[in-house]
Amino acid sequence: EAKKETLGFQTEVKHLLHLMIHSLYSNKEIFLRELISNASDAADKLRFEALANDSLYEGDSELKIRVAFDEAKKTITITDNGIGMTREEVQDHIGTIAKSGTKQFFEKLTGDQAKDSELIGQFGVGFYSAFIVADKVTLTTRKAGVSHEEGVRWESAGEGDYSIETVDKAGRGTEIVLHLKEGEDEFLNGWKLRSIIKKFSDHISLPIIMDKEIPAEKDEEGNETAPARVEDETVNSASALWTKNKDNISAEEYNEFYKHVAHDFQDPLVHVHSKVEGTNEYTLLLYVPGRAPFDLWDRDAKHGVKLYIKKVFITDDAEQLMPRYLRFVRGIIDTDSLPLNVSREILQQSKQISNIKAGSVKKVLGMLEDLAENDAEKYQQFWEQFGNVIKEGPIEDHKNKDRVAKLLRFSSTHTDDKTQNVSLADYVSRMKEGQDKIYFVTADSFAAAKNSPHLEVFRKKGIEVLLLCDRIDEWLVSSLTEFDDKHMQSIAKGELDLDKFDTEEEKQHQEEINKDFESVLKQIQDVLKDKVSEVKVSHRLTDSPACLVTGAYDMSLNMERIMKEAGQ
Ligand code: ADP
Ligand code: MG
Repeated sequence: EAKKETLGFQTEVKHLLHLMIHSLYSNKEIFLRELISNASDAADKLRFEALANDSLYEGDSELKIRVAFDEAKKTITITDNGIGMTREEVQDHIGTIAKSGTKQFFEKLTGDQAKDSELIGQFGVGFYSAFIVADKVTLTTRKAGVSHEEGVRWESAGEGDYSIETVDKAGRGTEIVLHLKEGEDEFLNGWKLRSIIKKFSDHISLPIIMDKEIPAEKDEEGNETAPARVEDETVNSASALWTKNKDNISAEEYNEFYKHVAHDFQDPLVHVHSKVEGTNEYTLLLYVPGRAPFDLWDRDAKHGVKLYIKKVFITDDAEQLMPRYLRFVRGIIDTDSLPLNVSREILQQSKQISNIKAGSVKKVLGMLEDLAENDAEKYQQFWEQFGNVIKEGPIEDHKNKDRVAKLLRFSSTHTDDKTQNVSLADYVSRMKEGQDKIYFVTADSFAAAKNSPHLEVFRKKGIEVLLLCDRIDEWLVSSLTEFDDKHMQSIAKGELDLDKFDTEEEKQHQEEINKDFESVLKQIQDVLKDKVSEVKVSHRLTDSPACLVTGAYDMSLNMERIMKEAGQ
């Protein structure tokens, strides 16, 4: 174990490294943000573990991050006294990509550098971004609570392999030395490094420290009165961003904090920052990402909201903080109302937590309502990324069904366009005199919905119909049966009761047809026998010769198809 071994990178890592070095070149300085972000996560983890086991601090509970550089050696060093890693953890986390959705990500790559660099921004490169500026990275780490002899050194040139060996390391935590590439000397500069830290990492809640050189002091005659010395200087503001007053936080600060908590490379779409007072006091800072993450449809994906108690990170796997239909929300909730030593089991049954969750859901819905009202373009962007997730809302969250229903957007015959931008309220406002139902058709594609024979009579009478063609839509309408006291009616089910929109002339004409066809209907019924429950003359169609209709309480045909596919 102690001996040095050389191991090959996972194929995906090689691929990622190559791509990153070439595509993120114009955005080099992000390496510092990523490494500081990891150091900050490591401190969060230690603080949490230490709640149950104080000895993990090893007498050093002042958590901090240090950034230093050496002009002669051409190195930058980032040091933290966080949780550290065991040899096994180094191997699992550095050198492999464990992210869910990795496979799909690599399948999406095109080989076109411009397109791929967009993608890589979404994927996030974390630790590997060190290789944008370094041609050798040496990571030395020691896990909190283990012996100093169980340190680990990992080293790689970022090509095919890395070496790993067990070393002695006195202090716990992680030190990362970047051996800069030829031509990257601009980073060997205190001013430059400080400005990058200010720009990207100001919101980090623990101090990021750099050496400050104080020149020698001299008296009037030029005699030295105090020698030159070096002092620690905290470069960032080192207070948790969410504890600050909204008015004192810039858009950039909100965005950078998002990138840190969400492990995202792109700006968020919108955020809500709010302090809730009362029996349960908590602060929340929640974001909607600009894009759907890779694992949005992965059942096992982690939930995105981190729980803090009194500014101490507790967990980022708090399923109970957001319902599934808001699983794309990222950010933090920090409460003073729970004891710090709360266990995960207690969290799961905590009344306070379910209270906080209910309040937070309201805030998120409010944020989305504001967005829909004030920025239609951004709301559309949101809908395109997350609409299909929000559609799970009325099924999952009965309490907020009406609010969620207002957020829904559909395609409709009003525009006949695939873009889902018609709200139920829009639909209702356009309903015809005497119309008391919201009509919709479901199909497995937009084209099929738009060309449904059931639509003919509605088009003829100028009645708008919602065109539903997403997989989730069947479930949605089985749960959302009403909006604004209007029944949601499938145009492929049962009696449509459209006669009231007929003119006198049409009514007469239909009577005649019914009579004419009486004997034909009887014959068809005799032939089909119990294969159908009834054969009728339809006034639903104007151009198509026939269509299948299900009974008002039967499963729709599309639902039947979906169930069959699912093996039901
Ligand atoms: P991410 O931060 O999104 O998980 P990274 O590539 O940045 O991805 O880091 C990969 C993993 O390596 C982290 O999740 C963590 O487990 C581990 N790691 C990285 N840096 C440190 C550090 N300074 N201290 C402890 N663990 C770290
Ligand atoms: Mg990271």
